[in-house]
Amino acid sequence: MFDYIVVGAGFAGSVMAERLAGTGKKILVVDKRGHVGGNAYDHYDEAGILVHKYGPHIFHTNSPEVYDYLSRFTEWRPYEHKVLGSVDGKLVPIPINLNTVNLLYGWHLDSEEMEEFLRSRAEPIIPVRTSADVVLSRVGRELYEKFFKNYTKKQWDLDPSELDASVTARVPVRTNQDDRYFTDAFQVMPLHGYTAMFEKMLSHENIETRLNTDYKDIIGQVPYKNIVYTGPVDSYFDYRYGKLPYRSLEFKHETLDQQVFQPTGTVNYPNEQAFTRITEFKYLTGQAHEKTSIVYEFSRAEGDPYYPIPTTANAEIYRKYQALADNTPNVFFTGRLATYKYYNMDQVVAQALTLFKKIQHL
Ligand code: FAD
Ligand code: UDP
Repeated sequence: MFDYIVVGAGFAGSVMAERLAGTGKKILVVDKRGHVGGNAYDHYDEAGILVHKYGPHIFHTNSPEVYDYLSRFTEWRPYEHKVLGSVDGKLVPIPINLNTVNLLYGWHLDSEEMEEFLRSRAEPIIPVRTSADVVLSRVGRELYEKFFKNYTKKQWDLDPSELDASVTARVPVRTNQDDRYFTDAFQVMPLHGYTAMFEKMLSHENIETRLNTDYKDIIGQVPYKNIVYTGPVDSYFDYRYGKLPYRSLEFKHETLDQQVFQPTGTVNYPNEQAFTRITEFKYLTGQAHEKTSIVYEFSRAEGDPYYPIPTTANAEIYRKYQALADNTPNVFFTGRLATYKYYNMDQVVAQALTLFKKIQHL
């Protein structure tokens, strides 16, 4: 008899399994994939280079609680991610900052002059409701069109005006020269990779892990008391209220016979190319190797669900599923797919730790 079946061995499921196992509960973790780690899974490719199978995963958080918790399962290497954008035939820093504008236009503005420039271009939009509003009200139409409009269309197959403000609000605008993608207090990568960290989390005498296993195939056969579910919430309820849209990606991995491919971890291609970005893994992992491995990301409507799509209409559908989930006894929903939230890894960990505190005495 298992106290819990945990569906999904990504961040949400692994945190829940590890925490519950620590209180003496017997846990069965199942994942339909052939590995742990969910979308954060990494592995050594044929050339021996550590790559992220499902696209680049850079860890960053402002939460000491999340950082301290994960530090039990991994050592870290400091890493501050940098992104360049290919715009008008130049490679310029993203998020847009002072250097971006100066490089793009051949100017020599200082911070105050850039603030003045942005004020003169920004569109007065109140209230800010959509992802277009966010950018237009910060930088005006020209930079919006160069950096955001087409990238967003490519990534989501939606115009920014159809997406919640929260999507493009993830990317700030700066009038200084800070060219880091994130400014969080903790910016680190697991020293031996994500998968090694997950394996440590799940290596507990109270946890059994079964891979290549869909929970639907075992639910009648294995006795259990509760479920922690981290898969797509609409699938759990057999799409009763219709399909919740998730955006998928296709990844094209390549290994090149050269040490370095591009000047930063990630280069975004907002406009010309079919892909959104290229990431070179050695920047993220710090690995030294005579070859280099990169990944192209192509956005897709069909395929594994990766991104919940933040629109008003989708939030409405999700609310119905959430009400069902809240009224399903002994089943607890957590994670990016199960709560339909565009969460980063640290937010998923925080959400799972909060759920654990709520249910630990059941
Ligand atoms: P997942 O990792 O999706 O895990 C869910 C698991 O459930 C999966 O392994 C799935 O196989 C399993 N499952 C589903 N249905 C079933 C079933 N029926 N039976 C059994 N198992 C099932 N976050 C960051 O903080 N930094 C980044 O740089 C970053 N980059 C990202 C890049 C990309 C391309 C993507 C897609 C996401 C990125 N994220 C990043 C977000 C990060 O991936 C998520 O926040 C995190 O991995 C979500 O963890 P999770 O456990 O909720 O879901
Ligand atoms: N975005 C954009 N141009 C860029 C970078 C981001 O238009 O060069 C928009 C796009 O809509 C994207 C969102 O901002 O989906 C969030 O970007 P982020 O890099 O956080 O996306 P993720 O890494 O989660 O795919």
